[in-house]
Amino acid sequence: MKNKFQKIRAEFLEKLKTVSDVGGLRELELQYLSRKGELSSLMHELKDLSVDMKKELGALANNIKNELETTFNEVKDQLDKLSVKNALVDITVPGVEPVHGHLNPITIIQREMEDIFSSLGFTIFDGPELESDYFNFTALNIPPFHPARDMQDTFYVDSKNQDGDLDLVMRTHTSPVQIRAMRKLGAPLKVVVPGRCFRNEATDARHEHTFYQFEGLVVGENINFANLKSLLELVGKKLFGPNTKLRMRPKFYPFVEPGNNGEYTCFLCNGQGCRVCKNTGWLEIVGGGLVHPDVLRAGGLDPEKYSGLAFGFGLTRLAMLKYGVTDVRLFNSGDLKFLEQF
Ligand SMILES: [Zn+2]
Repeated sequence: MKNKFQKIRAEFLEKLKTVSDVGGLRELELQYLSRKGELSSLMHELKDLSVDMKKELGALANNIKNELETTFNEVKDQLDKLSVKNALVDITVPGVEPVHGHLNPITIIQREMEDIFSSLGFTIFDGPELESDYFNFTALNIPPFHPARDMQDTFYVDSKNQDGDLDLVMRTHTSPVQIRAMRKLGAPLKVVVPGRCFRNEATDARHEHTFYQFEGLVVGENINFANLKSLLELVGKKLFGPNTKLRMRPKFYPFVEPGNNGEYTCFLCNGQGCRVCKNTGWLEIVGGGLVHPDVLRAGGLDPEKYSGLAFGFGLTRLAMLKYGVTDVRLFNSGDLKFLEQF
């Protein structure tokens, strides 16, 4: 048995000399030094010996065990140091700061608008981008035969309703959410709806098939045109500064009666006239009006009892004006050279 111990010792030390990596070390440790390794197994057999033999061989076995473990750890330390030195990564080089993402300019404007309207007690309300034909058009007083549909050609999804009509469209405006909000929240209500819209456009610097709107709806008893004007005036001052003026001119939208477009003092030239406002001193930024009774009905509300006002900002247009962007297609281009400027 004494020889067996000596043999294990010799074998182990011989093999340790040829080990060149951590993997080899681990194999050696498993084979000889682990709990089920050769040395432990042999030491286990000591229990069957006489007391004297146990004493003698036990001491020898312990000595060998200590020697092998010490030598093993020395070699392990050397290999560890070597592997750090040889590593391809120089761990003393300072780290590279990761690139931080940031908000798209349209999102920046959207949040600014949401802050303004939240401070005025509006709820931010959301609706689907893939909308039913009914919510997008018919419920907003734009029935299938109505010429207003021509102005909002969009992408129809290949799914038909019971009558064989195409009934899903990519929404052309955020206005269908007016109907959803009235049906869900009832009256009185104050909501704003930021969101992405789609139209089948021949794209150029001023036209894009995907753009963003910011819709607003107030419904209650005795809501009137003066409420609309004062609200839009206040928002204009918050957006563009305290000297901002609003002018409203009649405009046709099928879902309001009467309808208007709203122009603010050009914030680039303070109303003096510049290239962007085409020397008029005014920028057309918001459309609005009083909610058409048919739209209130489609929202499940009684137009004899309630009236409402609605308005819509072009978020994409606001971002273009604010940042002086001359080509609308840049916003969705994914071009980092453009986006990283904001
Ligand atoms: Zn101007």
